Amino acid sequence: MSQYPELKLYIGGEWRSRAGQPVLNPADESVLGTVPHATTADLDDALAAAEKGFKIWSRTSPSARAELIYKATALIRQRAEEMAVAMTLEQGKPIAQARLEIVRAAEIIEWDAQEGRRVYGRIIPSEPGMRHSVLRQPIGVVAAFSPWNFPFSSPARKVGGALGAGCSIILKASEETPAGAFQLVKAFADAGLPAGVLNLVFGKPSEISEYLIPQPSVRLITFTGSVPVGKHLSAMCGAHMKPAIMELGGHSPVIVCDDIDPAKAGAASAIGKSRNAGQVCVSPTRFFVEEKIYDKFTAAFTEKAASLKVGNGLEPSVQLGPLANDRRIAAMEMFVADAKAKGARITTGGARIGNNGYFFPLTVIADVPDDARAMREEPFGPLALVSRVKNLDEAIEKANSVPYGLAGYAFTNSASNAERLSQEIEVGNLSINHFVASSAETPFGGVKDSGIGREGGVEGLQGYTVVKNVSHLATP
Ligand code: NAD
Repeated sequence: MSQYPELKLYIGGEWRSRAGQPVLNPADESVLGTVPHATTADLDDALAAAEKGFKIWSRTSPSARAELIYKATALIRQRAEEMAVAMTLEQGKPIAQARLEIVRAAEIIEWDAQEGRRVYGRIIPSEPGMRHSVLRQPIGVVAAFSPWNFPFSSPARKVGGALGAGCSIILKASEETPAGAFQLVKAFADAGLPAGVLNLVFGKPSEISEYLIPQPSVRLITFTGSVPVGKHLSAMCGAHMKPAIMELGGHSPVIVCDDIDPAKAGAASAIGKSRNAGQVCVSPTRFFVEEKIYDKFTAAFTEKAASLKVGNGLEPSVQLGPLANDRRIAAMEMFVADAKAKGARITTGGARIGNNGYFFPLTVIADVPDDARAMREEPFGPLALVSRVKNLDEAIEKANSVPYGLAGYAFTNSASNAERLSQEIEVGNLSINHFVASSAETPFGGVKDSGIGREGGVEGLQGYTVVKNVSHLATP
């Protein structure tokens, strides 16, 4: 039996096969399967199904919803190994990271299901006989667009939020890494989710967003992807007065203060940067290191980065898989050539490995001038940019100097540095002394160009609701 699933659309509780486009294995560029493209008639059906699904699901009690959602997450946990293998095949990440992504996705969905039981409203004090009740109701049909870098957990965030809050959803997942969303949806279908509550389509992204966003019954758009596409979709949402959750790119600063152990922080930074080969919106990228420890930090970072085993993610000892597509290789080559030309120093990596599969090593670029393109544009790949700073003032100023504001990191043992960083770094998520940017229970999202809205946490679920105030005078 093939380790890669036969992909289908899921519309109104029915699996549909269609012609489409090939899905490639980034480790050897072989064809894994075909992702079906939805026709306009399929999209019409998905919309009608989601409208019916919303009526059913929004009228199902939160506890009954949670019970059904838990059946699906039990199937996800049971099937985690086959799901992880398919993910590594289509996306490239090391199998251990793929396994973690599946478990994390199950946790996110379960947390949302439980939080759905606590979508409390409130009663506002008023004159006798009058009651103002604030209700939080599921917003309606959700149109969701998920990217190729987290084929399972990104769709899971959107499906978890929508279903936890009582919404129905049409998910348009990545055509480049479609198996994650397919297997996620299959777990819900097999768990007995009512037809129409969750629908899965693929196709030409612009055609699907242009179809779904203007539909009157679509009440919320959630997108994870690049800043330019996010701005384009947000403008469409504005034109149709639709709220949007936009999880866009980042360019995470890491401020390394001179009161920490540079060898330890350097090695930890290499591991943090290597996650999913840097193809992560919260990947640590711009390292601003105080000058006293700059050389030691850079040396430790370089040594650890150079030691990472690069190869096919299905081999258990591999720590850095291939990049997900050839666009990322072209981008890395461009950023490296530009930084070199502007005087930066490559301390390890810097060039593609082989020409079969999209392998690129973890690359450390030291002494990066501020005008290097990689310092301003999100590399979205295994590039770490290390710069020397005089003090915390300079580090904070440089950290905030880009239009992005998703995640930020800092290493310090000083409570006053930590407090200042908490106040002054312009990001949605700041992690001090570690590299985990989010979990199921914490709100995740950006400021500035990195997006609007949150996924995860109480705030995430509230994004899938709408507030209604009911004023009731007891006697007419
Ligand atoms: P891209 O800008 O072409 O596409 C980004 C995503 O948007 C893809 O998933 C694509 O399918 C989708 N998309 C594109 N046009 C769309 C449309 N009109 N309607 C709906 N969806 C549409 O870039 P890419 O080459 O696929 O990815 C590279 C860049 O995307 C990276 O540099 C990074 O900034 C960003 N990215 C961010 C995340 C994230 O987690 N925030 C994830 C993946 C990619």
